[in-house]
Amino acid sequence: MTDKKEMQVAEDLVVTIEYELKVNGEVLDSSDEEGSLPYLHGHGNIISGLENALLGMKIGESKKLVVEPQDGYGEREEDALMDVPREEFPEEVPVEVGVELEVTDQDGDIMLVTISKIEDEMVTLDTNHPLAGFKLHFDIKVIGIREATPEEIEHEHAHEDGHNHE
Ligand code: ZN
Repeated sequence: MTDKKEMQVAEDLVVTIEYELKVNGEVLDSSDEEGSLPYLHGHGNIISGLENALLGMKIGESKKLVVEPQDGYGEREEDALMDVPREEFPEEVPVEVGVELEVTDQDGDIMLVTISKIEDEMVTLDTNHPLAGFKLHFDIKVIGIREATPEEIEHEHAHEDGHNHE
């Protein structure tokens, strides 16, 4: 086995990072609030701009980077709207403009959508990710790297302290 200190971020390794995400100078997300983030490298678990920047980094190394929309949450598309009759929303969902919801699309992928308009009994959802179109300013630090288990590679995600398991 290679010395852990010399391990570099590469495909099929579980990497744990500390991070801070700023958009337009405002901190939107950070590991101080959410806890450090373990992910399986090379499987699209995190946005491509971040994954590319992490490749080759070592434990203890940190980096500041700017991720353009195409390597982040995509460009904002003006026609990415979807009309859904109000009656199709479960009762516990607060149907109000600005509310963000997780919905499952036809492929079974979870999408984050925002209620953008409510007219009579029709609700319009904006299917752009809330961060689509934004430049993402990241401050990242690698705090752990380890071999993934065969099960993690099969599931294409990290199993760490019960995080993210489904
Ligand atoms: Zn799993």
